[in-house]
Amino acid sequence: MNIGNSNNEKGSINIGLIVDAQDEIACNWANWLVQWLTKDVEQNFPEFFWRFSVLKRQDFSRSVPPDPLNLLEFGSDIKIEYGFDYVLVLTSFPLKSRFEQGVSGVPSNMLETAVISLARILELEDRERQEKAFIGLVKHSLGHLWGLDHNSESVMRPRKFWTGEFPYDWSDQEKRKILRHLRDAADPRVEEASPIKSKWKFYLKVLSLEWPAILKDVLISRSVLMMFHLGRFIAATAVSMIFLFLSAEAWEMGAAIKSGWLDLLLAFVIFASILSIYFGQNLHVISRSDRMKEQAVRSRIVLFATLFVGMVSFWINLFIISSLIIAVLPENVLAGWAGMGGKPLPAFHFSKLMATFGVLASAVGGNLEEEQDIKALLVYTEET
Ligand SMILES: [Zn+2]
Repeated sequence: MNIGNSNNEKGSINIGLIVDAQDEIACNWANWLVQWLTKDVEQNFPEFFWRFSVLKRQDFSRSVPPDPLNLLEFGSDIKIEYGFDYVLVLTSFPLKSRFEQGVSGVPSNMLETAVISLARILELEDRERQEKAFIGLVKHSLGHLWGLDHNSESVMRPRKFWTGEFPYDWSDQEKRKILRHLRDAADPRVEEASPIKSKWKFYLKVLSLEWPAILKDVLISRSVLMMFHLGRFIAATAVSMIFLFLSAEAWEMGAAIKSGWLDLLLAFVIFASILSIYFGQNLHVISRSDRMKEQAVRSRIVLFATLFVGMVSFWINLFIISSLIIAVLPENVLAGWAGMGGKPLPAFHFSKLMATFGVLASAVGGNLEEEQDIKALLVYTEET
């Protein structure tokens, strides 16, 4: 974003609409949307200069059905290249859905980009309803990009189908929230404020300036429950946990490991499993622009932090489950396996050990999971 010069204090917001040059329907709707949306946001947020650009691209992905993840990455690359603040990718084809039954829109806070499909909306009976449904979906997605959560009283109401039903607008409270969000975002980007050569300094600078917003992005995303969306991931963990619990060697080894070493092992395992998923799943290429643009760096930090929170919360869950299982199993048998020689079983120590092995197993399982699904889970704000 650019802060206006001295004779004008308004910040400007650039939004790019990206369509397939061969997708005539999407091109027409994009032109219509720009006219309509310009009026709407200028009225709602006169604090900013609004600039919309429609980009008709020849290199638009033509896979059928289009994968929203590819389109988000495509949009995010163009966003960085052209310096847009937000990007909407429009298509008239129905999108590939991953987590929900059907999907018309996929916003991504992390990439500040949303993918919108007109396919289901165009099935509605008349043009008026189609317009209303389209506007609702676009405003819902933009609301997410601008930091809003769901709210049943406004256009932020979560919906399975976009049929052009009321309400079509953000609430007054939400508009104030959007204004605050856009004002924060309207601060000059790091690379605009001062040229920094060192990569690490650039990361630290972005982190020091943006940490509250980054933290919010990480906690809003489904990172805490992330691991439970992945079937094979859980299966790998469950199988190895069962074998661990039933093998005397694991208990014997647990008894032999000192608590301090176990803590060290735990830190190492969590760190190694994050790295293995991050690089094993090619997550580092999500925002692949080499230039140290603030947005690209920010996306990478959010991604890494999300993975970290996901792993740690996963470990905590495994720890609780292990504690419960240990509480249920007969203590004298377990103490015998562990070779405790009549001493009481240190349940805390063993729960920690089992959870740590569980995370280790899951990291191996995580790399079996479809790369695209893990990526989608991290990048999508939702499917709507
Ligand atoms: Zn939503």
